[in-house]
Amino acid sequence: MLFAMHWKKHRNFLRDPMDIYMERIVELLKNPLNKGEIDDAEIKKTDYNPSCGDMIRVFAKVNEGKIKDIKFQGQGCAISIASASLLTEYVKGKNLEEVEKMGQNEMLEILGLDLSKNPSRIKCAMLALIVLKKGITDLGKS
Ligand SMILES: [Zn+2]
Repeated sequence: MLFAMHWKKHRNFLRDPMDIYMERIVELLKNPLNKGEIDDAEIKKTDYNPSCGDMIRVFAKVNEGKIKDIKFQGQGCAISIASASLLTEYVKGKNLEEVEKMGQNEMLEILGLDLSKNPSRIKCAMLALIVLKKGITDLGKS
């Protein structure tokens, strides 16, 4: 009986399209990658996703046009925090030009989620990349 109940719960978990990716996202929330701050970072940039209430702050050490180190702080939904974890891991060591060329398709690929049925969540997934790109633009101005 107990087993049957568990199985039913599990099947419902798998059936709900919003929950299919939650396991991976929850893991990233428990063990975020690159969470923290860099005091002497060249890029320190914060931005918000008002439609969901997400906030991401990115810290990046830049040297010779490359991202040498990157960390983030954030508050918001699971998708925004997981995206920041995965993005920071992905761009470490990359040229700034490469990062500036990144768009929605590449970010969603890194996240590994199909958000086509949840288009409002794409803003959550894109926030960390948008913050980082704005930070790179600021760097060029100074
Ligand atoms: Zn969000």
